[in-house]
Amino acid sequence: MTAAELLAQADALDAQAAAVRFDGTSSAALSRRAAELRVQALGAKPYPVLICASCARLTGWLSADGICAGDVRHQQQMAGEWIKVDDHRPPLPTDAGPFLRRLKRTLGIGGARDRSRAWLDRVEPGETGPIEPEEGWELELPVKHEERAPEGPDLLVCFDVASFRFEYGAWRPAEKTRGGKPRRLMPREFAASLPVVALAEAWNDFAAEVTAHNRRVWQAEAARRHGVWQAEKARHDAEELQRGTSDALG
Ligand SMILES: [Zn+2]
Repeated sequence: MTAAELLAQADALDAQAAAVRFDGTSSAALSRRAAELRVQALGAKPYPVLICASCARLTGWLSADGICAGDVRHQQQMAGEWIKVDDHRPPLPTDAGPFLRRLKRTLGIGGARDRSRAWLDRVEPGETGPIEPEEGWELELPVKHEERAPEGPDLLVCFDVASFRFEYGAWRPAEKTRGGKPRRLMPREFAASLPVVALAEAWNDFAAEVTAHNRRVWQAEAARRHGVWQAEKARHDAEELQRGTSDALG
């Protein structure tokens, strides 16, 4: 079976699991089977691809009970033993740069070259967004941070996506994007003690998943714009033809 077929089958199992959950029957076995198909679809990797016993999501780190970090924290919180951990997440990356350039961009008077450079920093033109810089264009971008594991001595490397919008010639953090968040397949948390090459490959795979999402969003928008253009052209041609006919009759 191809990866796409495996994923389609996993989705079908998840839908089935959701349906039996609605009936009050246990759906854990179906969710687990769906997760196993997703592991198979990802293929052999140099980093761990594990299944959380609680939520059946793929993860790179499990507690002694086989549960992902998010669910362990949730359980600790429920049990009232939640300890506030320092937030090690760095501030979202924004476009830094000389103060004057930033000020110019903010005021919308940055040069066309600055604008184009900022655009090309994050867009593959014609692949993940329009060819020319476009005000209001939105992207999801991969971000990572480190935090303490909810149990044991591990430090975790956590991957996530953040929304950005191109405004006044720079990328600014946004609450969300019109295209929504990428579907979650890749594990998003790993022990920081893993070999660097394994972590690097996990990051590359995660980033590729986000890029594929941005590409799909742009392809759909490009098709929509092409449709609008074709309709405009057809209307224009029809008008021309009509004018030509009435000229001939007149
Ligand atoms: Zn979980």
